[in-house]
Amino acid sequence: MALIVQKFGGTSVGTTEKIKAVAKRVLENHTKGHQMVIVLSAMSGETDRLVGYANDMQKVPSAREMDMLLATGEQITVSLFAMAIKDAGFDAVSLLGDQVRVLTDSMHTKARIKKIDTESIKSHLAKGRVVTIAGFQGVTENGDITTLGRGGSDTTAVALAAALNADACEIFTDVEGVYTTDPNICKTARKINQISYDEMLELASLGAKVLDIRSVGLAKRYNVPLHVRSTFTQNEGTWVIEEEKIMESMLVSGVTYNKNEARITIKNVPDQPGVAAKIFLPISDAGIIVDMIIQNTKAGDMTDMTFTVIRNDFERAMNILNKIASDIGAEDVTGDEEIAKISIVGVGMRNHSGIASTMFHILAKEGINISMISTSEIKVSCIIKEKYTELAVRALHDAFSLDKGNLPSKEKDPVG
Ligand code: ADP
Ligand code: ASP
Ligand code: MG
Repeated sequence: MALIVQKFGGTSVGTTEKIKAVAKRVLENHTKGHQMVIVLSAMSGETDRLVGYANDMQKVPSAREMDMLLATGEQITVSLFAMAIKDAGFDAVSLLGDQVRVLTDSMHTKARIKKIDTESIKSHLAKGRVVTIAGFQGVTENGDITTLGRGGSDTTAVALAAALNADACEIFTDVEGVYTTDPNICKTARKINQISYDEMLELASLGAKVLDIRSVGLAKRYNVPLHVRSTFTQNEGTWVIEEEKIMESMLVSGVTYNKNEARITIKNVPDQPGVAAKIFLPISDAGIIVDMIIQNTKAGDMTDMTFTVIRNDFERAMNILNKIASDIGAEDVTGDEEIAKISIVGVGMRNHSGIASTMFHILAKEGINISMISTSEIKVSCIIKEKYTELAVRALHDAFSLDKGNLPSKEKDPVG
């Protein structure tokens, strides 16, 4: 008998019929004697719909009330799912985050899990029940409802698997696993059989929304192997595991894109100590996260500073910078919201040179200009115009032979 945590995403529980199908699939395991803990997302589109309501009520909705509202999405699916299990003649119980006691900090709308009480879950399991838990939500010490940030049900599932010391943690979604790029924009995207935590962390942080980045971080920390697979087929999906256990590592594992950033340039600031601090302190004080930063070296004693922020924070960041521009002696502050970040990721890059230059060459061949570049040990990212996103993704996917499974060999170098 195993204890299995399974999480089903929004598209998997998007209608009552789909919830019934998920219940049937869960019962196949339950009737084999396994203990089943099922984490559900809200029905697809539901969380967006609720956010829309909130925006109709308040220009900047109260974060506490937003969490009260958003937590209802998952309450609907878990209760319906428990009904479906009971209708099939088995016992089930649905629990909200505060009933389990998924204890979080009080950062409303992006709370972090601090601790999970497992007693109630275990006692329900011991009574032979399927336990279904609302994803994406928790509760503070004071009893306030919190949510974990968009896509947070993945994190609930991994945190539960770690807390319960589960035998397996399976993430069911609308695609067959983690692909070499988003299969919805590139027809030749290929399912990856095994991927390391570190590569998955990079892919998730760079835009592959198939797994929430915090879920991957938790899985790595607590060594929880993740199986990402399709709700709609029985096929084996992708295993996210330790790098050492991976049979074959690719030069480049995946291509990602992120259209959720905006670029800001502060022109002609004095090139002297303290300027960067003056620019970025008020930005971080406002809770705005900065991603890429470039400081140009120019002739004379002036410089330009360019950086990217999450698009939702763009207006706030521009307002802050416009206010301090004259203080720091800047000539102008300009911004561009129509950008995208294209990245290639792969542990194979650690031991091979020329990957970044190949990427630049491929983008150049497509006539795509690069406005910013950043690299780490296992990734290269470029900022380009948003309208070229799909073209860039397909060109890179093709050039690195990701459809075939590129090998870490010189012969396959697409530039030759
Ligand atoms: P769920 O509702 O099940 O949580 P998500 O919509 O959050 O599902 O994530 C699944 C989606 O992630 C897919 O439909 C796909 O469009 C997108 N995606 C982006 N990049 C990738 C990738 N590299 N591999 C698989 N899916 C990806
Ligand atoms: N329902 C939440 C969202 O849409 C959480 C999740 O689906 O993971 O972001
Ligand atoms: Mg998701």
